[in-house]
Amino acid sequence: MSFDVPVVHTVEEMRAFVRARRQAGERIGLVPTMGALHAGHISLVEEARRHAERVIATVFVNPTQFAPGEDFSRYPRTLAADCEKLATVAADLVFAPAVEEMYPSGFCTTVTLEGPAKADLEDHFRPTHFAGVATVVAKLLNQAQADIAVFGEKDYQQLLVIRTMARDLDIPTQILAGPTLRDRDGLAMSSRNVYLSAEDRARAPALHRALADAARRIAEGEVIGHVMGEAREAIVSAGFEIDYVEARHAETLARIARRHEGPIRILAAARLGATRLIDNVAVPAA
Ligand code: AMP
Repeated sequence: MSFDVPVVHTVEEMRAFVRARRQAGERIGLVPTMGALHAGHISLVEEARRHAERVIATVFVNPTQFAPGEDFSRYPRTLAADCEKLATVAADLVFAPAVEEMYPSGFCTTVTLEGPAKADLEDHFRPTHFAGVATVVAKLLNQAQADIAVFGEKDYQQLLVIRTMARDLDIPTQILAGPTLRDRDGLAMSSRNVYLSAEDRARAPALHRALADAARRIAEGEVIGHVMGEAREAIVSAGFEIDYVEARHAETLARIARRHEGPIRILAAARLGATRLIDNVAVPAA
């Protein structure tokens, strides 16, 4: 049996909840999302629960991380269904602010980023994206003052950007990562998968297949440049247009040519028709 999860829309209400739970000696976990929740998001709530007695999920489609022409206005908004899913894992509170609550008139501050935010990956194709993400996440972390916050490895560059930002700005919330949940055929779950036509949905798992195959071959000692070239060919043959498919240092996102230069992450973004998919996998340690 699941109970309704209380939904609040203001920072003040969320802070009142946090204050009360803290006074009761409980730890608070935060899971920021843009809604249109799927099992991947729900797994992050479950991960947060392993570290905190109370879990707040936030649902906010953040306008500042979308560039003009991206899918901000058509991004799926499904708050009632999201709350039902969050009830199944007994989330304790949903914070669903309006745009004016997050960006009242006169708002004029943005976080400026370097390091993993300037890796020539997502940032090359979405140059204003991470400033919007980092600013809204900084706000959410300050608003909630949670003990821990959980982000998905699905958005791997974003995870590194947020970790770096929280460290550099001395935000006391501990940033934790949750693994990527996938459909049975390997496609990483994403709120944007609903945009895929039936034909493109059938092609989509080729992206993860190519990344997983490349990771295995690099782990087995094959030359990175050669393996990545073949991965790109496989992805193009499956009908994708590639933005990037790269093997990088897993902690800094620096370019990497040889296996021993560090832990490796393979990251990709590619388009099927108008839908852009991103994914990444770890190269297993030798
Ligand atoms: P979004 O609502 O897409 O901004 O995602 C909210 C959070 O869920 C982010 O930390 C994402 O990295 C994470 N996330 C998205 N898709 C998945 C997935 N398939 N598995 C695990 N976490 C995910």
